[in-house]
Order: sequence, then C-alpha cells, then structure tokens
Amino acid sequence: MEELLHYPGYLVGICSLLGLIIGSFLNVVIHRLPKMMENEWARQCAELRGEEAPAIEPLSLSRPASHCPDCGHAISALENIPLLSWLLLGGRCRACRKPISPRYPLVEALTGALFALAAWKLGSGWPLVGALFFLAAAVALTFIDFDTQLLPDDITLPLLWAGLLFNLGGAFTDLSSAVIGAAAGYLSLWLVYWAFKLATGKEGMGHGDFKLLAAIGAWLGWQMLPLTILFSSFVGALVGILLIVLARHGRHVPIPFGPYLATAGVIALFWGPALTRAWLGHLQ
Ligand SMILES: [Zn+2]
Repeated sequence: MEELLHYPGYLVGICSLLGLIIGSFLNVVIHRLPKMMENEWARQCAELRGEEAPAIEPLSLSRPASHCPDCGHAISALENIPLLSWLLLGGRCRACRKPISPRYPLVEALTGALFALAAWKLGSGWPLVGALFFLAAAVALTFIDFDTQLLPDDITLPLLWAGLLFNLGGAFTDLSSAVIGAAAGYLSLWLVYWAFKLATGKEGMGHGDFKLLAAIGAWLGWQMLPLTILFSSFVGALVGILLIVLARHGRHVPIPFGPYLATAGVIALFWGPALTRAWLGHLQ
C-alpha cells in the first residue's frame, strides 16, 4: 500500500474518486449551510425580541435525507452516486422527471479535478492532505458566496486555524510567514473596506472576505497575498464590468468577491511560487 501510494497514477486516481465523493457532500453544504444560518438568525432575533422561537423544520447537514425538491422523492444510494447517477438519469428526478440542476455534477467534477491536480502536483504526504482540505473549503465558499453573498464563519475560521496548524510543520510555508499572512490578509482588506466606506459611504465587501484572505495568508504565507489580491481584483473587476455591460446586473447590485478570492487562492496554492518568481524576475 505504502509503495502504491508513491505511484503517481494510483494516487491521482484515488484522489479524483475521493474528490467526487467530497464534491457530493459539498453540494449538501452549499445548499444547506446558508439555510441553517438563516434559521439560527431567525431563532436569535425571536429570542432578542422575547418572542417564541419560530417553528422551523429542523435542518442539518445530515437531516432530512436528500430528496427531490419538486416531488419529495427520497433519493436512494444508487441515485446518489457522484456524477454517474446524474448522467444515467439524464439529469432528471427518477420519480417526477423534473430536471435536476447540472450544478450538482459540476461541483462533483470540479472537486474531483482539483483533488486529482493536487495529487499530481504534490504527491503523497501532509501537504496533499492540507491541500485537499483547502480545496474543498474553497469550492464550498465559492458557490455559497455566489448564491447568497455570505462566507460562513463555520468554514472561513476553521480554514484559518487549519492553515496555521498545517504550517506548524511547514507544509506550505514557515510558521512566521503563515502568522503574518493571516494578520496581513485580514488587515489589508479591512483597510480597503474602510477607505471605500469613508470615501463613498457604501460597503464594498463583507467581513467574510477579510477572513477568507486571512485564511489564504495562513495557508500560503504573506508572500502570496499581493498575487492573490491582484488576481482576484482583476478578474472580479473584469466580470463586474462584463455583467454591467451585458445589463444583467445593475451598477449597484453587489457582486460577491469571495469566489474570486477563493479562485486566486487555489491558483496561488498550485502556481504561486512560480508566478511570484516570474513576476519578481521581471522587475529586476
Ligand atoms: Zn422529483
């Protein structure tokens, strides 16, 4: 087994299968975590007002079991195989034949592909375990922020701690770069937020964005922050302008920044050192 794990093709295969399964779980997280947060806020608001807790059906990541949102048909284990079930069922519910969003298999395939890339680039060892954790969180945060403009603390904060813990052993950078990265990541966007707010009176981004960049700094070190901010701002601005030009979006409709930060973080994880070297070399 130990020897097999050092055989790259085997490791890439195992990790892509693991990615498909984790991707299937991430679909549940993306769909349910924001609803669970809303339920919790409703409960807290009622408590503050001294009212009775609202009657909300209990929802957690494991309960109720997965079902078709249209007809309530319970999804069996056979209908829940990542990617394959969606393809075999032609993207439709087996009971009512209503279409199932292609986003479910897309999230599974994306997670599988990212896990395979991590195995291929990093080989077996602690950095690979860390990278899989980082990638799963990045996928979940991207889609949750895209849907709801929220970056849940339940993901960003554990991601931050985990980055510091993995770098205790220097998995991606040395510990002092990681600690400075976490603080500088938070502070840099916090400063941008206040500068923007004082200048325009508007809130340009959410506090979740600061925490996500802090987490990226904790994983990759402060050295990767300029690249991450530059790339995410550039792509974010490009997409924002495109959306305004295509008139799908009003100029004042907020555009989530988390997906670009998370994408930039993934790019920095895989190609950051090479990109920074190329960039610094260019300046000399
Ligand atoms: Zn159905």
